[in-house]
Order: sequence, then structure tokens, then C-alpha cells
Amino acid sequence: MSNPSMERVLIKGAYILSQDPEVGEFIGDVLVVGDRISNVSRNLVDPDATVINGSGHALLPGFIDTHRHAWQGALRGLDPSWTYAQYRNHVQIGLGPHLDPEDVRIGNLAADLMALEAGVTTVRDESHIMNSPAHADAAIAAHWESGIRSVFAYGWPSTEAESWQFGSVRPHPADIRRIRETVLSDDTARVTLAAMIRGPELSTMEIATQDIRLARDLDLQMSMHVGLGEWGIQQAAIRRLNESGLLQSDMLFIHACTSTDEELRMLAHHGAQVSVASSIEAFMPGLGQPATNRMLAAGLQPSLSLDVETSAAGDLFGAMRAALVYQQLTRAGAGGLMERGLSSLPTFDSRDLLAFATINGARACGIDHKTGSITPGKAADLIMIRLTDTNLQPATDVAATIVTAAHSGNVTYVMVDGNVVKSGGVLLQGHAISELASESRDRIYRRAGLSKPGRHDPAVPFFLKSGN
Ligand SMILES: [Zn+2]
Repeated sequence: MSNPSMERVLIKGAYILSQDPEVGEFIGDVLVVGDRISNVSRNLVDPDATVINGSGHALLPGFIDTHRHAWQGALRGLDPSWTYAQYRNHVQIGLGPHLDPEDVRIGNLAADLMALEAGVTTVRDESHIMNSPAHADAAIAAHWESGIRSVFAYGWPSTEAESWQFGSVRPHPADIRRIRETVLSDDTARVTLAAMIRGPELSTMEIATQDIRLARDLDLQMSMHVGLGEWGIQQAAIRRLNESGLLQSDMLFIHACTSTDEELRMLAHHGAQVSVASSIEAFMPGLGQPATNRMLAAGLQPSLSLDVETSAAGDLFGAMRAALVYQQLTRAGAGGLMERGLSSLPTFDSRDLLAFATINGARACGIDHKTGSITPGKAADLIMIRLTDTNLQPATDVAATIVTAAHSGNVTYVMVDGNVVKSGGVLLQGHAISELASESRDRIYRRAGLSKPGRHDPAVPFFLKSGN
């Protein structure tokens, strides 16, 4: 007997790319009951279910972005040709101190809605805009409001940004304890807490040790940025963590562009996780190159992330392509900072990239028991991509077609935790954010006293200007 309080949805006849080896890849049906995937099979029948016609569509678990600074949602598209130093000076140091809590709420909301539109059902928000406790509350509120699944990784303030990074002696903000004990105490909820620490690459070893102990005391998975350009080579953060006995499986390492092969093997040995911000690493000189192939060689399972929308698109289609572009360029002979004979390293293909963008992302965030694959019992985080669209048909190989050419406009249906957030190609909650975002952007620039980056006449107002 069906429970009348549990809504039942039956998606029929879709091309299922489940990302679960037990379930496989086939044309079939998925039954959702309440917030869970109940059954995945061929020819499912349920007279009580609302039927969604999946024919002509690929059905996947929602994409998982394992590292995005969501507060920059209203600052997207500032300059894709920035170096890492230019980005830091303009955004983190220049603009970051000038966001009030409402700007953070709007930025996060803009980021989340864009992500949902593109089939990203989970965002790990690496929130280094913790300028006050109210900023933390506002950032979290946006994730509840948007409907996305979020791992909210509590970082540090953007005020006095320089003192919080690159040799910082300031301990992690104590407010994370309040959030853990009151706001995000439930690890089964749609929005959960993690710790974004600086680690030994961005703070002293003494501070990194304190911060790691704090995260473990609060029973939180933690992330840190490592392997950032030449600085990352000098700091050897992973090696030092390994030597100190602190390296464990509750850690996510972001970028690791210039971490050595030996360091990557240390991560694999301890069951630690990695995130490749492929678009930004490819776009932003100063970080180093995507370490995807070297991670595979070390026995790691790469996940993908967007990092900053100031300089790269916020969808995982772009991130998958950027990872592939770098692999193929290197196979063709274009060497990077850490590449020594990529031809001998394992390579990846379309199906691997879809795994990077889904199940590997769930593992990276420690939530693969909840999401990341179409598996009975997991949360109903599902997306459909319309393969009959002009740019995708005839979809000879579905995975290859998606990786080659799909975009947000092909994502017709998005469900998070059993709630439909996009249907018929329309984001159900996408209203009014454009105006709020442009007003917020204007306020931030006004307070910062900065002019818009890029080639522009200061006399010409922003587009979209608030009020337009
Ligand atoms: Zn980052």
C-alpha cells in the first residue's frame, strides 16, 4: 500500500546513466517516493505515481560541484583573462570586505539558481566571506531558500583578507561552533556543515594543527586549498600534514595543481579526497594546471569544481570540457608546470568525466551514502537532459554527446531531495534574482570605490544596471 503522504513520481523510458555499477546504463524507469529513489528498473508500473515521460532524455544523478565560492554569484563574468593575482586583488581583497550579509545571501542565491538551472543539484560552498556571524547566517539561509543541496564549508573573513592567508597566524573563526551546535547540527539535512580551513599552505603549521583539531572536535569534514602555483611547491602542505600524522580521510584537497606525485599518493594512501577546478585552473595563470591525470595515476578519484564565477562559467559541462581540453592538449605535447611525460599517465573519457561530476563529487564531500548515483535508497537528486534538442541529436553515444555539447538549456528537469526545481526547461524559482543581483553588485562596487574591470569607459554604467 502506498503512503498517501509520500508523493510518487515515475520517470519512464529515459536513457539512464546511473553512475552505480550495480544499476548500470540502460533505457528504463525510475520511481521516486517522497524524497528517495525507490526503484530503478525496466517496465516499472505504479498506478499511484505521477508519470513523467523520459523518452528522448538522458537521466542522471544531479551534478555535484565540490568547490564554489558561492558568495561571488552576483560578481560573475568580471574577467576570464585575469591571473590568480589579479583575481585576488580585485575580488577577495578589493570587493570581499564590502559585502554585507544581504549581499552574501543574494550572491549565494544567484550562484545556487544558476547551478540548479545547469543540473548541479549539490554545491559545496567554500565560504570565505565570513566577515561576521550574520554573513554566515545569510549564506546558509540562501541555500535553504534556493532548494539546492549544499555542503556549507565555513571559511574565514574577507575583511583583512591578507592576514587570513599565506602564512596566517589567525585561528579559524570560532563562530563555526555556533553554526555546528545550533544552525547546522543535523547531518541528514539538505544543507549540512563542513569546515573550510587554510591548512599548512595558507596558515602556519601551528594554526593548521589547531584548525584541524577544531574541525575534528566538531565532527566536520574539512577542505583546504593546496598546490597553488610556485607557492604550493614551496609549502609542500600535503607532505607536512603526512609527516605530522594529521592527514586523514576526512580531508578534501582543492586544486593540488603543484602538489607532487608523491604527495598525491599520500592522499590516496590515507583515503583523502580531491577537487579539480578544471575551468579556473585552465583559465587563471598562477594556479598551475589541472592534476586530473596525475591524480588518477596516484589512485585518487577526481571530482570537479567551479571555484569562481568571476572568471569561468558555473556549470559542470564547462568543467568537464576544461579537464578534457587540458588532458588532450598535454597528450598533444603542450607541457605544464608539473607534467613529466603525461603520455605514460592514465587518461579519462566521457564516462569517466560524468563520474567525476557526480559520484566522485559525492565521495569528495562525504555524502555518497546520500547522493551521487541513481541507487535505490539514495536521495532523489535527478536531472534529465533532452537528447532530441538540435545540438544533441542523434546522440549516438549518450555520454559522449553530453560531454561534447550539452549545456544548461538542454537540462529540462531537475529534482533535489524529491522536490522538482526545474521542469519543462524552466527553473521554477528563477524569478527576480537578476535585479537583486545587479543592485547588490552596484552596492558592493560603490562601497569598495572600485571601477568595473576590463576595457570600459567609466562614464558608461554597468549592464545589467539595477533598475533596467
Ligand atoms: Zn577556491
